[in-house]
Amino acid sequence: LIQLYMPLNFLGIVYREIRTALTDIERMFTLLGEHREIADRPDARDLPSGPLEVRFENVQFHYDAKRPILHGVSFTVPAGHKVAVVGHSGAGKSTLSRLLFRFYDVTGGAVRVNGLDIRDFRQESLRSAIGIVPQDTVLFNDTLLYNLRYGRPEASREEIVAAARTAQLHEFIESLPDKYETRVGERGLKLSGGEKQRVAIARALLKQPRILIFDEATSALDSKTEQAIGESLRAAARGHTTLVIAHRLSTVMDADEILVLDGGRVVERGSHGQLLAAGGAYAQLWALQQNEEGRQPDGSFVAA
Ligand code: ATP
Repeated sequence: LIQLYMPLNFLGIVYREIRTALTDIERMFTLLGEHREIADRPDARDLPSGPLEVRFENVQFHYDAKRPILHGVSFTVPAGHKVAVVGHSGAGKSTLSRLLFRFYDVTGGAVRVNGLDIRDFRQESLRSAIGIVPQDTVLFNDTLLYNLRYGRPEASREEIVAAARTAQLHEFIESLPDKYETRVGERGLKLSGGEKQRVAIARALLKQPRILIFDEATSALDSKTEQAIGESLRAAARGHTTLVIAHRLSTVMDADEILVLDGGRVVERGSHGQLLAAGGAYAQLWALQQNEEGRQPDGSFVAA
């Protein structure tokens, strides 16, 4: 009997392993299905030339139908203007930038560029017009020049230096012994969080985008670095239609409009001055950030 039992037991183990493998494959296909590429419409067109206006029109969105994230968000970034979004962690701020880049489609309402639904444009045309400065910047184990040129491989050295100047990075690079040839990344010079974001700003600028999305890093920054990034962003945003996802109020003060997002809804909007005068949620956040005791170690907002 034992002779029969052993192979059967062995078969049982093999069977279980095959079942697990199949389940994994099923799970993989489910995941692939969920992250399928968004397809262009057959009649999709290119973006018009010239300055671009961005409009979110009653945008609703969920990653998972059981958990709505945006509940009807509306705002307009007129061409060449700057709109900033602030709010607590998880409010849905970065989701707005993902929808504009069309990583996902809205589940209600529309995102429009110059009045046209972005689903009517070719994705390639839409994405090539948008420069994103992400929260976390990936640096390759290569020179600074290589890392900057990644924004636009055919860029000339002059264009790269010009972008680095606007991003307030040029002087820092020139102070390094190997200047633009300095190796960075895991095996090279470790750049600080602020320096990395300025590399990302220069990269985004090299793309000569007509729409700029700046997703501010939440990582700890000293006030000098914070100021340098602020200046770099202000210079980069000039003349671009800009959406800023902000964690620090210093970045948003000069925005044409500031939106306070809470639980996927715009609960307040206006200029810095108007919002302070209104004495609402923004004014509370401002008071907290002014008060060193209320300020988080990373300078980000704290729950009011
Ligand atoms: P933070 O200030 O921390 O960056 P945020 O306001 O930018 O936050 P989002 O990144 O827009 O917030 O996320 C909003 C909500 O959506 C969060 O609750 C988050 O857990 C959820 N979420 C984000 N990305 C996904 C995803 N890919 N799948 C499922 N849920 C997600």
